[in-house]
Amino acid sequence: MRRMTGKTSTKGRNHLSFMFVPHKGGVRTIRINNYRTTLLSITAMMLIALLTLTGYTLSVVKENKVLKVQHQQEIELILAQKAKLEDYIANQTNQLIENAELITAASTSKTISENAIQQYQAEYENMVVAYVDNNMGTIQKVSRGSSKEMSFKESLSELRSLLELVKSAKLSEDDTSSKIHKKESELTSFLNALPTYWPVDNSTTIHSGFGRRLHPIYKYYRQHDGIDIGSKAYPNIYAAGAGKVLEAGRTGGYGNYVVISHGNGFKSLYAHLSSYNVKAGDWVQKGQKIGKMGNTGTSTGTHLHFEIHVNGVPTNPTKYLEKR
Ligand SMILES: [Zn+2]
Repeated sequence: MRRMTGKTSTKGRNHLSFMFVPHKGGVRTIRINNYRTTLLSITAMMLIALLTLTGYTLSVVKENKVLKVQHQQEIELILAQKAKLEDYIANQTNQLIENAELITAASTSKTISENAIQQYQAEYENMVVAYVDNNMGTIQKVSRGSSKEMSFKESLSELRSLLELVKSAKLSEDDTSSKIHKKESELTSFLNALPTYWPVDNSTTIHSGFGRRLHPIYKYYRQHDGIDIGSKAYPNIYAAGAGKVLEAGRTGGYGNYVVISHGNGFKSLYAHLSSYNVKAGDWVQKGQKIGKMGNTGTSTGTHLHFEIHVNGVPTNPTKYLEKR
């Protein structure tokens, strides 16, 4: 069925005609007058308006619910991002502060020197403690909170680099600089006094080491309190460290010999010399010539018998001597 609406005019009166055109059969027409049409139209319009408004209201309410959830999620997301951002900013600020401190520290050589002094003061104290304990094989490195064990020679080279750092620092004349210079000269004389200088030129061969051995002359096992450094010629013998000559003389066993005290409980002994050029009471520098290698005393060939004593106890000199 098709429905058609249209306005028709009959005898001058306005009315509405609904014309039904069935697919089968004749056309039917329903005629509605104007006033009823108007009323119906208004009602329909109101109904449509009400339905639309209701639908709209419902959809708005529904949409608001969705929006509210979305909004809540967005708020949570923003809050999370805000928290992250705050953390990031706090972190950045801390880094900035740290960097600023580092930069300030680096810009003042005084601060560097103070740190260096604290460092090598700790190293120095460690080493002094180690002497007293007569345990120079390894030094417990505690000054930097590390449990790493390091050899005496490693510790020595670290002390030297710290000294270089302090020497290179630009200092103004005040309490700090005088403190630093005092420590610097302390450390310098400390390092000079240590018996670390290899006492023979061009000969680093140890023919007989420290410890128990079959004695080459007495032919029985006994403690060898030093090391034997051999050479075919009669090279110069040098003081292993700065110090005071305690003895310079001759005995049956040692032949011509020299003993030097280096302080801090250290002594060094040089035996079988062909000659010596120092006397008891002399002050010698590290590396200063004190005599010539020889074959005096109970010796089977030209060599230097060299000992280091720490607090009166013979100790293996290879722990201290630096080959050159
Ligand atoms: Zn020997």
